[in-house]
Amino acid sequence: MSRNSDRRGEQTRPRLGLELVQGASAAPAPDPSEELRRRMMAGASSTGAWSHLAALQRIADENGGHRASPGPGYDASVEYVAAVLRAAGYAVSTPTYPLPKRRRPRSGDRTCRNVVAQTRSGDPGRVVMVGAHLDSVRKGPGVNDNGSGVGGLLEIATRLGSTPPIRNAVRFAFWGSEEDDLKGSTHYVKSLPRRDRKRILLYVNLDMIASPNAGYFVLGGEGKTAAKAGPPGSAQVACVLVEHLAAVGIVAKTITLDRESDYAPFIAAGVPTGGVMAGDRWKKTRRQASRWGGRAGERFDPNYHTRHDRLAHLDRVAMDRFTRAVAGAVARFAAGSPVEHAQKREQHAN
Ligand SMILES: [Zn+2]
Repeated sequence: MSRNSDRRGEQTRPRLGLELVQGASAAPAPDPSEELRRRMMAGASSTGAWSHLAALQRIADENGGHRASPGPGYDASVEYVAAVLRAAGYAVSTPTYPLPKRRRPRSGDRTCRNVVAQTRSGDPGRVVMVGAHLDSVRKGPGVNDNGSGVGGLLEIATRLGSTPPIRNAVRFAFWGSEEDDLKGSTHYVKSLPRRDRKRILLYVNLDMIASPNAGYFVLGGEGKTAAKAGPPGSAQVACVLVEHLAAVGIVAKTITLDRESDYAPFIAAGVPTGGVMAGDRWKKTRRQASRWGGRAGERFDPNYHTRHDRLAHLDRVAMDRFTRAVAGAVARFAAGSPVEHAQKREQHAN
């Protein structure tokens, strides 16, 4: 299925005519978007992401053992992420969202911040969006949940750079208050003007990608109802993620979307959506252990939402595979949207 969609994708590239002409000569014309994708998959790694994870662990240690929003550990996480992205040349903003009454400090801010960064190249009218929640629970430092997603995204963003040769703009989002009913992402999506919301081609979510007893799950496209499978186009997004995990040697399992992470408001807004995760409180089956390794009958992350969710317990190999796979998928999405191809096909069929 993914191979077919790939082939159809090739046909819609405007470069095709030129390639045919140049096909007569000995050297094939280099495809800059394919080169970027290869470079991203080869370059992005857990080695690069690890320094970010170490920084988030340190921030939690210095701020009462967690990075929950609102709170000083969360503020320090926001400053850290924004600084990394600014140093990489991105246009960075920290849009606010209102805190629920029970979370407002007696004196001080009634709002909290997300972090949003966008490439300076690519069409800003066609945005590929990729996000991870930046907050932890109050019970622990949240280095897998979701320092891992944040570290992976920062590695991808810094490897991509702020002015890559891409067709669509790429926007990275780091959400607050995910652990508090998805407050940060929900407010962001709802408060976007309709025109801006329509500019988002697709959304990819990273939440827990270094679970110690790792599984390899791709969310989207699975299930009979639109609520579970995601809006039209979500299956194509999931397919590209599955394909890129295959490229790092993993046969991923596709699973349904739910309301458990920051993709929920994007689904509600009709944006084609996918996600990756290495598993949380659920137990690994025997079949999954024979497919991916690890311990059957034990939780994917035994430290889920506890003080033991620390850097020392993360699966660096899983972190590496997910980071490379998502890096390749982001480069592919930035070169052209598989969703757009799917919609064009539907129009032709009608
Ligand atoms: Zn999470």
